[in-house]
Order: sequence, then structure tokens, then C-alpha cells
Amino acid sequence: MNNPFDILFEPVPIGPVVAPNRFYQVPHCNGLGHRMPRALAALRGVKAEGGWGVVCTEEVEIHPSSDLAPNIEGRLWDDGDIPALALMTEAVHAHGALAGIELTHAGHHAWNLISRTPALGLSSVGVSGFAPWQTRRLDKEDIRNVRRWHRAAALRAKRAGFDIIICYAAHNLSLAMHFLLRRYNDRRDKYGGSLANRTRFLRELIEDTKEAVGDSCAVAVRLAVDELLGEEGLSAQGEGYEIVALLAELPDLWDVNISDWSNDSATSRFAKEGYQEPYIGFVKSLTSKPVVGVGRYTSPEAMVNAIRNGVMDLVGAARPSIADPFLPEKIRDGCIADIRECIGCNICVTGDTLYTPIRCTQNPTMGEEWRRGWHPERIAPRQTAQEILVVGGGPAGLECARALGQRGYTVTLTEAENEPGGRVIRECRLPGLAEWRRVVDWRLTQISQLPQVSLYPGSPMRAADVLESGFKHVIVATGAQWRRDGKRRTVLRPLPGHNLPHVFTPDDWLRQGFDKLSHQAQPPQLTGQVVIYDDDHYYMGGVLTELLAGQGCQVTLVTAAPLISYWSQYTLEQGRIQRRLTELGVTFFVQHKLQAIEPDFVRLVSVVNGRAQDIAADSVILVTDRQPNDELYHSLKPALAEGKLSSLRVIGDAEAPNIIAQAVFSGHLAAREFEELARTETPFKMEYIDLD
Ligand code: ADP
Ligand code: SF4
Repeated sequence: MNNPFDILFEPVPIGPVVAPNRFYQVPHCNGLGHRMPRALAALRGVKAEGGWGVVCTEEVEIHPSSDLAPNIEGRLWDDGDIPALALMTEAVHAHGALAGIELTHAGHHAWNLISRTPALGLSSVGVSGFAPWQTRRLDKEDIRNVRRWHRAAALRAKRAGFDIIICYAAHNLSLAMHFLLRRYNDRRDKYGGSLANRTRFLRELIEDTKEAVGDSCAVAVRLAVDELLGEEGLSAQGEGYEIVALLAELPDLWDVNISDWSNDSATSRFAKEGYQEPYIGFVKSLTSKPVVGVGRYTSPEAMVNAIRNGVMDLVGAARPSIADPFLPEKIRDGCIADIRECIGCNICVTGDTLYTPIRCTQNPTMGEEWRRGWHPERIAPRQTAQEILVVGGGPAGLECARALGQRGYTVTLTEAENEPGGRVIRECRLPGLAEWRRVVDWRLTQISQLPQVSLYPGSPMRAADVLESGFKHVIVATGAQWRRDGKRRTVLRPLPGHNLPHVFTPDDWLRQGFDKLSHQAQPPQLTGQVVIYDDDHYYMGGVLTELLAGQGCQVTLVTAAPLISYWSQYTLEQGRIQRRLTELGVTFFVQHKLQAIEPDFVRLVSVVNGRAQDIAADSVILVTDRQPNDELYHSLKPALAEGKLSSLRVIGDAEAPNIIAQAVFSGHLAAREFEELARTETPFKMEYIDLD
């Protein structure tokens, strides 16, 4: 029988080149960029190995006047940058895929902190973000220069081995897009005014690139066709449509999406698979050239539908290719249940926003391909026939047991609760977090295919049980729970009033009906005024606020940070969270910490001027630190010293509470390191500059 997804494996001509299939890894940032080219080449190579027919770079700066530091992007300022990029094209070509490069002049988005040249803008305006300097207004000579730099970069890209050269006009991050936008472009020359004039620069970039390298390289355009700003920006009903109509047949390929980046990479909390289709669906009606679109596609049915319904010709993906570089191969082999589906959490994005190597919640090998030699599908086989006990079936324990089982070890995994999954299986019931369940589902599916891994839910283990079980190797993954005393970074001592009956923690919602140890049989039924103190700063405070405000409570969200859900800036969610909670009528107190809880009010104190104020509170929820469940580990340690155990390791939140991605990583690391020689020096390779 034919594979029902055969259409995904048809080759697609793109100008002078041919993509071997319809899987197209769109450009994505990674925090490696020009600083870690070997690591990046290995990452891209693994995608090609996993079946992605086209594998692209991230944004690549074409000139020092487009220096995106502190973000770490690709760089092609001069010939000296060619060898680093050639590492990537070699890695991609080795698996028969095409390599694409996204050339970027970032205009007023570049801060030029390294190059110290003035940023270039359509007029002299403040650079993007909250920085106190402005651009130099581009004159005619500057525009000619940018075109020249772009052309030179295209020629260098060709020498580096790229097959597809992308002219970038998306995410509001490039000069070509700035020219298109009425709100930036107030020029009175031939580059301003009418839409045809505002499109001129992008048209020229495409023409220049085709003239320079179009004989052997495809020339693509990456365009934001809708900015979700209505009249103020490009839209599928307005100028986004008209730009595609104006340039329809000029590029060899259209890669279309919505802007800005937070819209394009919307998290699963705010958008579902295929969410861009209503905006990009028109493009194919205007051009005969192949069209790429994205929408966090992980299901082959949705991909096939997007193609058959005429939305796109190639299925674009950044995050699904990060979570599972072998997604195309798994579809081809009919191993659909083995696809490690992206959960839409945007931890991968924090590589760019925090200027550090990319990480992924689902795929602990992401970013570690070169520096630790990790492969997403392969792992070193076991050394001996040892049997291992893993205690705790949250993300850390599940990943550890799965990866040990993949290595061939015999593993017993015990979980206290009747349903494995730890914090993830609880949290995925909160508003917007349903897709996070995939962290557990994928691991349980894999474990079910490993006869040497036995899972025992409903089996809490004490130290005596562990020792009686006779296992010599024990890995403790017993997680953590929310503190009830309010201690965290801003409250250094137990909070006065924390033990009053109207004070709760997230566990009162998460553990109800789940946890035999919970002191709540049912989630608290709160009404009236609720104060949530968020000293965790990621999603939990905001999600509980959303839950309770949605149930009709009058919620006040208090944080010592300058923004609510402060850390969610790095996952591109902060603005959306604030908007949603504002719409629900939530009151915010930022830069305030909780000083005391009384029976019917709380005392807040400003972290700016120390001024105190009381606000009414019928209930209080403390979202502060979590307490590691590490008693089991510590009570087993003497047994290790006495030789009753051969090895003992604590992983995940039981070792140090962290985000889910770190629990998965920690479990994976423990499995990789089991019976392997421990490195005493830095446990991964570094990309030092060769001083010879
Ligand atoms: P992590 O993120 O580190 O995986 P979680 O809190 O999500 O941590 O998961 C830890 C899991 O360990 C939970 O499902 C919890 O029920 C389980 N657990 C905790 N203590 C024990 C124990 N003594 N025996 C078996 N399972 C336990
Ligand atoms: Fe998907 Fe999250 Fe992995 Fe990014 S970090 S690829 S959003 S699972």
C-alpha cells in the first residue's frame, strides 16, 4: 500500500534547483550562529539527515552596519566568513538536502554594538527596542551600497555552497521590510510614497541577486504578508496581498508568514497547529512559484491538507524540526507515533533571546550534536547487563528510563501516582497548556516499545523499599513541590501569615484528585478577591491568574519584577499574557513584594521606595520557590557509602528545581553518562579560536 503521505515526498523544483521533498526547515535563530559554527553545522546536518529537504540558516548579517549583537546570528561580512558557513552547506549536502541562506540587512533593527557604525534607517529614527541612539538616514548612495553589499553576500553565499538565497522581508527585522511599511517609510524619493515605490528596494534586491547568482542558485523571498495590525501594517486583505501581486513571478520561491516574531512563533498557549493558514492562504492564487508556509505542523495529515488545499507547496517548520529533526523520516517510514511533537513552549527561542546555545524541551540533544556528540535518534549501547531503578516518573525520570532502555539496559521505573508524568501531567490541565502533555505521551509511547523498561505507577518508594528491592543502581527523580512559606528571591524569610487557611500554592490545583499526599481533596473553590504573588516569574503565576479570573474572581497579580510573568519575555509570550489578563480585568502590581498576609488583606511594599499599602484579599496564592523532594536521595546516600548501592544519582527537580526542558535534559544526561567515563574537565567541547 502506498504511504498516505506520499505527496510530502515529491520533489519540488525551485528555480534552477530541486528540493528532494516538501519538508523545508525555514530559517531559525539558535544562539550558536557565527560564534559556534561547528556546533551549528552539526545541528543543521542532523536536520538534513532526518529528511528535511531544505535546511536554512538563521538571519545572516551581510555587513558590519547590520551587526545584530548581542544576538548571535549568522555572519557574512566578508570572505573570511565563508569557511564557517561552508561547514554547514557541507553537512547539509552530505544528506542530499538543499542549503538556504537568509541574507539580512537589519536597518534600524541593528544596534551595531560591535561594529560601532551608525545603524541605517529610512529616516533618522531611534533604533528598535529601548536604546538611546538613532539611525543615519539612508541617502541614494547608501541605498546603492546596501544593494552592493547584498549582491556581494549572495556571491559569497554561492561560494560557500548555498543553493537558495533568501531576500528577507519578514518579522519587521529587515531593511527590505522597513521600506515596505508606511509607518516607517516617509521618504519622498522613488523608494517612498506609493506601494510600488516602497516595494522597489525589495524588487531590486531580488533582481540583483538573480543577476548575480540566479544561474545556479534559487532566489527566494521571505515576506510577512500580515502583521495582525489591521490598517496600520501589512495585511492579507491589504498591502501584504498587493506586494505579492506586484512581485508574483519574480522570486523562485515565496516563504510567507505573519509578523512580528511573536506572531510567527506563537506558542501553543495562544495558537494551534496551522494557525497561519487564514493569513497566507491567498499567496498561491497570485503566483505559479512554490510557496512555503509555517504553522507548527507536527501531524502529517495537517501537512497533506495544507498542500492539497492549495495553501502551500512546501511545509515549512522551525520548531517541529527542532523537537524532531527526524520528523520527515518517521513519516516516510510510517512511524507516526514516534514523532516527538513540538509542544509550542518556545524554550528554543530563548537561545536567541538569551544569547546562549539553543535548547528544546522535547529534544534534549538539540544544540548538543557537536559539543557533546549527541544524536537525536542514536545513543551508545549499554556497557554491561546492569539493572537500574529509576524512582519518579516525571519528565526527568521518564526521559532517563527511556534513554537507558534505548541503550539496552533493564530499567524499573516506579512512580508514586497512578498516572505517570509528574508536573507535566498536572500542569497540562491548566489553561492553554494542553499540548505540553506531549512530553509525557511521547516518552510513554517509547517506553511501551522497550520490553526491558518496566513502569510501575502507584508505587511510592521509601529508602527501605529501595534497599529491599535489591537494585544496585538507583536514579532518584522525585521532583519538587511549591513552597508554602512564600520564600523566594524577594521574600527571604517565611512570610508572616503564610499558614492561614486562605493561603494556597499552585499544588492545591495541580495535585488535587491526583496526589494521595495532598492536603486538598478538591481544588479550592475561590470567590471574591484573590491575590496571587508571583515570585517565580515564568508561566505559573499568569496561568493561575487566567484560570481564576476566568472563573469570576477579582484577581490582583503582584510581582517584584518590573513586568508580570517577566521571564516569558524570552519565550515571546509576555505581551500576549499581559493583554489576555488585562482583558480578563486583572489588576497588576509590579515592583511590589508581599510583606505580610492578614485574614482579609495583604500588605504590599514597593521595591522602589519601600512604601507599604494594604489591599483586600479573600484568598492568597503563593507562587514562589519549589522545594526539592530530595529526602529519598539523602536517605540513600549512606547506603552508597556503605557499599549497599553501586551508584546513586539525583536528577531533575529533585536535584534543583528548574524548567521542564532542564528536567528532560537532566534525565537524558544521566542516561548517557551511566557507566561512561566521567569527564573531569568541561563536559563538552568548546569552539576556541585557533591561535596558530
Ligand atoms: P521532574 O521534573 O524532575 O521530573 P516531577 O515533579 O515532574 O519532577 O516528577 C517527579 C515524580 O516523582 C512525580 O510524578 C512524583 O509523583 C514522583 N515521586 C516523588 N516521590 C516519589 C517516591 N518516593 N516514589 C515514587 N515516585 C515518587
Ligand atoms: Fe517546540 Fe518547545 Fe522544543 Fe521549541 S523548545 S521546538 S517550542 S518543544
